[in-house]
Amino acid sequence: MAKENGFLYVVATPIGNLDDISQRAISTLQQVDWIAAEDTRHTGRLLSHLGINAKTLALHDHNEKQRAAGIIQKCLAGEHVALVSDAGTPLISDPGYSLVRQCRDAGVRVIPVPGPCALITALCAAGLPTDKFHFIGFLLPKSQQRQNQLADIPAGVGTIICYDTARRIKDTLQDVTAVFGPERELVLAKELTKTFEHLEYGTAAQIIAWLEADPQRCQGEMVLMIAPTPKAESELSDAELNTLKLLLTELPLKKAAALTAQIHGGKKNALYKVALQLSGETE
Ligand code: SAM
Repeated sequence: MAKENGFLYVVATPIGNLDDISQRAISTLQQVDWIAAEDTRHTGRLLSHLGINAKTLALHDHNEKQRAAGIIQKCLAGEHVALVSDAGTPLISDPGYSLVRQCRDAGVRVIPVPGPCALITALCAAGLPTDKFHFIGFLLPKSQQRQNQLADIPAGVGTIICYDTARRIKDTLQDVTAVFGPERELVLAKELTKTFEHLEYGTAAQIIAWLEADPQRCQGEMVLMIAPTPKAESELSDAELNTLKLLLTELPLKKAAALTAQIHGGKKNALYKVALQLSGETE
């Protein structure tokens, strides 16, 4: 009788607090033949904490495409493999997409074993709308690239969630102001599930002031969330909004709104309201 294929299990691991590993994740890691890990030494520490002695192999951004072929062969030969990343859910700003895709193409069953994920952990405690959200992964390293990345997000996508690093969070907050205006509500979620877990709420300027009040606050892992586009803004087309933003860099509010209305045939009053929001002024 032909041997049955093994499976690829995509196993989420803790993002800080080791107690967050699920019972099912533990039993999967105990039972598989191989564990493919982003960093075998890092995962080795989790495995020894759990008392699991398993064969590991490294699968990271630089070898994923080649490694995938070997993993698929193992599965086709009847071995079970678990994929883990350093923390959280594999594939979410972490390696694994190519492997999962190739498994799918090769007819190897992929079984998700869900658990922690920083973006969901942050969102569920932020008090920002959760009915729609837009995850953009890591923000780009240079300020102008980041501003373009943020400006490209269409209105109406809901709460925007990004991963960022402690080293550049203050620059990012300036970029958020440049793109969304100084009044946009933000939440910075730091060190989730760890000892110094903290969520800071406010505008970019308020959060920068909070970060600057203590150098330790500029350390650790963080998720930045941006409240959805205010209603008036989301009622404009992307073209109207882009023209208005561009004109606002050169002209007074009223003039920018009037010209945008002329160019796109929109309502001057609605455009003026949005111009006020974008510039942080009130009526
Ligand atoms: N796969 C992971 C997940 O499921 O969230 C994300 C991996 S990505 C390489 C690492 C980034 O996730 C960090 O730079 C940070 O933005 C975010 N992150 C991970 N753990 C976090 C934590 N405990 N608190 C806040 N952000 C965290």
